Amino acid sequence: MTDVVDAPAAVKPINHWISGAPHAGTSGRSGPVFNPATGQQSGAVDFATAEEVDRAVAAAKAAFPAWRALSIAKRAEILFAIRELVHERREEIAKHLTAEHGKVLSDAMGEVTRGLEVIEFCCGIPHLLKGSMTEQASTGVDVYSIRQPLGVVAGISPFNFPAMVPMWMWAPAIACGNTFILKPSEKDPSASEYTAELLKEAGLPDGVFNVVHGDKVAVDAILEHPDIAAVSFVGSTPIARYVYETATSKGKRCQALGGAKNHMIVLPDADIAMAADAAVSAAYGSAGERCMAISQIVAVGDVAGPLIEAIKDRIPKVKVGDGMDPSSEMGPLVTKEHRDKVASYVEGAAGEGATVLVDGREGAPEEGFFLRPSLIDNVKPGMKAYEDEIFGPVLGVTRVDTYDEAVRLVNENPYGNGTAIFTRDGGAARQFQFDVQAGMVGINVPIPVPVAYYSFGGWKASLFGDRHIYGPEGIEFYTRGKVVTSRWPDPATSTVDLGFPQTR
Ligand code: NAD
Repeated sequence: MTDVVDAPAAVKPINHWISGAPHAGTSGRSGPVFNPATGQQSGAVDFATAEEVDRAVAAAKAAFPAWRALSIAKRAEILFAIRELVHERREEIAKHLTAEHGKVLSDAMGEVTRGLEVIEFCCGIPHLLKGSMTEQASTGVDVYSIRQPLGVVAGISPFNFPAMVPMWMWAPAIACGNTFILKPSEKDPSASEYTAELLKEAGLPDGVFNVVHGDKVAVDAILEHPDIAAVSFVGSTPIARYVYETATSKGKRCQALGGAKNHMIVLPDADIAMAADAAVSAAYGSAGERCMAISQIVAVGDVAGPLIEAIKDRIPKVKVGDGMDPSSEMGPLVTKEHRDKVASYVEGAAGEGATVLVDGREGAPEEGFFLRPSLIDNVKPGMKAYEDEIFGPVLGVTRVDTYDEAVRLVNENPYGNGTAIFTRDGGAARQFQFDVQAGMVGINVPIPVPVAYYSFGGWKASLFGDRHIYGPEGIEFYTRGKVVTSRWPDPATSTVDLGFPQTR
């Protein structure tokens, strides 16, 4: 975890947001926030105590009855206002992302746009919460189903999508009538504070959306809190497993999305130029810090040679630099520790028997937390570079002889977030979609993040819980069902009957 430091006076303080107002932390603990392009500390984020989490939960609990009782039409109106403001200020939000995460501004704008799509989906909440009804299920008896909010719910988010992943959580949660506590990543927390201000400006009542910053102390306080009904988590697999086990042991509903090792299978008949463009974009975009990044190519048969040459041609053209510079295509990594960890995989690869074709430690800007793209051939199961989620701009290539071997690699991997196949053979692609054990599959699409009206989620160690995030499953996650059986007085048919109710 990030070191806990005393906040230097020169840096921007980043506070909690409770009941519609900033709340300066009282714990005396804070974490450093850096501009990864310069390596300079730019902020100090308050770390909440359990008491501060409790204060946020109390605010959310107090706001719940009125928010829940507000008509769906009025809730939708507020969501439309939120949509307009987020759209209008998308560049300001994106600038917060670039300043603290490091991703280039165009990519940060893409992140906000994908989050905005989820908000737009949630504007349809009147339709999404419609139940079903059966008239005359029995004589004079009607049956109908309704979905109701859970109460106070929480979201705990990772550093790599500081705006979009929280939007995946808070937008459906509040649309369904819940009140919300967000615990963002301590590495890039400013977008959350800015979002809180926007939601207030859009007319969201105080207490419906709250932010508590912090580390394990804040997370544990959320997981233990008796007034929190459900927790959405997105982050690394060990923490996802911990959050899921702890939250569910306390009786909470939980969806915990974890890490990934996404394989891209390239068959011998693939369009090499298209596959190489896709591999370079999906491996090095956002410096590889995407849970849907392609980190491993599986080259089938004789496609490896020409594919690798095509990728090698493209790598020198990737412009690495400060994300605020419009000519940059790839920014720095989020922290110095993370940059050094990613570099250690490149350093260790040759010793494991792999072949480093392009070494991204060479030629990277010296100021800030930069690496250039790396390409490693002959990566095999059992090597650290294969087994670990590197989460940086490092692309491994594994060579196999057959489609069956390629699919076996994906299916034997403990992760199952995304995967892709590149081929011109529709039959092979269809077989892959049938065979492969992963939650999101791309066919000649390297980053198959579902559109907002489907749901996002992996299999195996990439997701703990049984509901995917956003889309229809997000609405289900943040509501619970109720079925009403009703009859209105009709003295003509009223009798005493001690038998079990039957539909007659
Ligand atoms: P992380 O697991 O370190 O942190 C995620 C959240 O958990 C943060 O809010 C952090 O403060 C908190 N946390 C960290 N350590 C904790 C601990 N010991 N106890 C309790 N809480 C703790 O993840 P990260 O480094 O911020 O994000 C990168 C990871 O997230 C990658 O593994 C990536 O694949 C994953 N991710 C997955 C998805 C997905 O949809 N499956 C999406 C984005 C990111």
